Amino acid sequence: MNTERDELFIDGAWTSPSGSQTMPVENPTTEDVMGHIPEGDAQDVDRAVKAAAGALDEWSQVPAEERAAYVAKIAEGLAARQTELAELVTGELGMPINWSNMIQAGLPQLTFGSMPDVLSQVALEEEIGNALVVREPRGVVAAITPWNYPLHQIALKIAPALTAGNTVVLKPSEVVPLNAFLLFEVIEELGLPAGVVNLVTGTGPVVGQALAEHSLVDMITFTGSTGTGKRLGEVAARQVKRIALELGGKSANIILDDADLEQAVGAGVFNCYLNSSQTCIAQTRMLVPESRLDEATDIALTNAQAQVVGDPMAEGTTLGPLVSAAQRDRVRNYIDKGVAEGATLVTGGSEAPEGLDKGYFVQPTVFTNVSNDMTIAQEEIFGPVLSIIPYRDDDHAVEIANDSQYGLSGAVWSGDDDRAMGVARRIRTGQIEVNGGSFNPMAPFGGYKQSGHGREAGKFGLEEFFEVKAILR
Ligand code: NAD
Repeated sequence: MNTERDELFIDGAWTSPSGSQTMPVENPTTEDVMGHIPEGDAQDVDRAVKAAAGALDEWSQVPAEERAAYVAKIAEGLAARQTELAELVTGELGMPINWSNMIQAGLPQLTFGSMPDVLSQVALEEEIGNALVVREPRGVVAAITPWNYPLHQIALKIAPALTAGNTVVLKPSEVVPLNAFLLFEVIEELGLPAGVVNLVTGTGPVVGQALAEHSLVDMITFTGSTGTGKRLGEVAARQVKRIALELGGKSANIILDDADLEQAVGAGVFNCYLNSSQTCIAQTRMLVPESRLDEATDIALTNAQAQVVGDPMAEGTTLGPLVSAAQRDRVRNYIDKGVAEGATLVTGGSEAPEGLDKGYFVQPTVFTNVSNDMTIAQEEIFGPVLSIIPYRDDDHAVEIANDSQYGLSGAVWSGDDDRAMGVARRIRTGQIEVNGGSFNPMAPFGGYKQSGHGREAGKFGLEEFFEVKAILR
């Protein structure tokens, strides 16, 4: 596995960046530097965007089915390197290897591989009276991605963008970037026309900003923090550019009074802690009837204490480290804040877990008796901290769930499916699970409110990358 990277992928070839600066990639479990990537700059961005702009006309003329077939081949290339990919992401990010294998390495293959089928669900042409309405690519797409599900988030952008006939410049997260290089090795082997898809690495404020601002970029597609999303929204507004934003979340898991508490709380704790809670759809607020608060707290405690914290490569580990020292420190501060604001700490805390002084580990933490106006209930923590919030009745639960600047996801549990559905329809989020409904990679994914706009995945995700033209005859 090559983790020492000193070239960018621009105009169909690996090429030296304009400068000689590199950035270290850290393994958050060992705190060792596991590799390097080029620290690109605005000149590299300019070359990549010009290559993408130059390739647009030819690529947009390739029949859509052929483009989708190219994209589907990326899935085959990734499948051939599945184990290597899973180990790489576990190294860079710290997610336990079994989950990395399934999610970090598996999900991108599903996305790339689904494109021929997804394309068949979208009408590329339709007639409205004398108008022939055609869907065309938006143009040059700038894709800027985060570190928590790195290749999945890249796939959700590159796969539909290319299928729709756009050309792309990718700026992956500098925190977990090595998987993107592996992807581009796969792409290189496919022999896509030069310039169709390009990779420039570096920091957000330098490479990301230059990319978003480039006058030849027609659309920005961004996943990351709400703060960066707002900044990019301003850039897009100044240039009247299309932008799709997938941002943060603070999802509520509403457990109604007739729910099977063991099942609902257990599933909720699992969901909250997946990937050390570095998940935008993590259900970090657990809403329980006040009459069952103690019972729910006990079950959450048992589930939290059953977490196995440690080396993500070891069999049986369920909770790896956080991605970086900065992230760990941020999360510990939130835990201290929860205590200071009067929430009841049930388990965990801001000290390092016992025996784990090396690596960016945080104890699985549960707070109960949390009030929804506390910082830990309002802000996205991105670390293993669950807040249990009591409510009076269903209306109150809905009110609390919706009392958030975010609107990404959530869950409802009830012994009565119709009752759960009724509550689910009142929650202002882009997705919601009912009674353990499982993740559906083809269902539209995205946010209400400050969780962003636009949808990813499946046919809704593909539609984001088309302009609509009316040809009047
Ligand atoms: P981040 O906003 O710090 O960085 C995301 C990307 O933006 C990185 O590639 C970064 O280099 C780049 N960037 C940073 N500053 C920039 C600037 N000024 N101009 C252009 N690009 C810039 O986010 P992160 O810490 O990498 O990711 C965590 C966040 O992502 C969390 O808030 C999480 O909720 C969110 N997220 C959302 C979804 C979703 O689909 N809604 C999915 C995963 C993560």
